[in-house]
Amino acid sequence: MSHLYVKELETAEAAVAAASRICQAVAAQITPDVLEKKDRSPVTVADYASQAVICRALREAFPEDPIIAEEDSAALREPDQAELLAKVVKHVDAAVPGAVAEDVCGWIDYGGASEYSSRFWTLDPIDGTKGFLRKEQYAVALALIVDGEPTVAALACPNLNGGLVATAVRGHGAWARPMIVDEKPVAIAVSRTLDPAKARFCESVESGHSSHDHAAQIAEKLGITGEPLRMDSQAKYAAVAQGFADIYMRLPTRADYVEKIWDHAAGVLVCTEAGGKVTDITGKPLDFTHGRGLATNRGVIVTNGPLHDVLIQAIGAVGVS
Ligand code: AMP
Ligand code: MG
Repeated sequence: MSHLYVKELETAEAAVAAASRICQAVAAQITPDVLEKKDRSPVTVADYASQAVICRALREAFPEDPIIAEEDSAALREPDQAELLAKVVKHVDAAVPGAVAEDVCGWIDYGGASEYSSRFWTLDPIDGTKGFLRKEQYAVALALIVDGEPTVAALACPNLNGGLVATAVRGHGAWARPMIVDEKPVAIAVSRTLDPAKARFCESVESGHSSHDHAAQIAEKLGITGEPLRMDSQAKYAAVAQGFADIYMRLPTRADYVEKIWDHAAGVLVCTEAGGKVTDITGKPLDFTHGRGLATNRGVIVTNGPLHDVLIQAIGAVGVS
């Protein structure tokens, strides 16, 4: 492949794959009573372990690059969290033999950058924590942002179509490969659906993360009769990028919520490089130059391209703001 980001892509892809294996190992131990008890500890363990492994790999390969990641180790370092920390270290050890607690906390905190810079990584170690606990969709999402543009992406979706890793490099395309078999990545592309009425759309499972009511009104305006595909995490971006869905709507539920960059950067690049289009609900491109949040955007809209303008019009007509 002839682009400038060969090492970044290799490092990112290997790191999210290693983190995903840890997540799957933790998930395999989730018993039904964990869900009944609303016990979130499995996702906490996997979240920290995933961030430790990925940040360590990035720091080793690119010591100068800041990382804006979702977690930090402050809570994990509390004396009453020793049991949790021991579990995290045990799972990290599967990927990094000999890891000790102090190192693991240090690796997690490599992800502590918060300011915009001309080149940085952003990481969601487990996106879709509720999906993870439900043994449904979740993602490990990593992207390199250069001059404000998502430039390299690695998005692992361990429970999507048997598990896949989607990757993309700005200007060079998007690919996916199965997570478990060591196959070569194949190019992926969005659907060619032109008729809005035939569009399949995805949205969050959680109605607190995206307004289901507004989405239903928009779907009705467009003549869509099919049910929404509800999925947790950036697996929704992977679904659009591979043409399993035509639209992903993320419609604000609160006036004050600012979308986080790590919930979007990897998915955005995978989708746009697969031929899709991503903007906010007003049609504005997402602006990754404001640190941890998409401070100047409202909601997020993803389409296969041809359906974008008609969707933005329908959103305006319904009066989503
Ligand atoms: P999803 O899997 O689509 O439900 O999105 C999960 C992400 O939603 C989490 O990683 C949170 O960062 C984010 N989130 C939390 N609260 C909100 C909210 N009020 N609106 C939109 N996204 C949110
Ligand atoms: Mg997230």
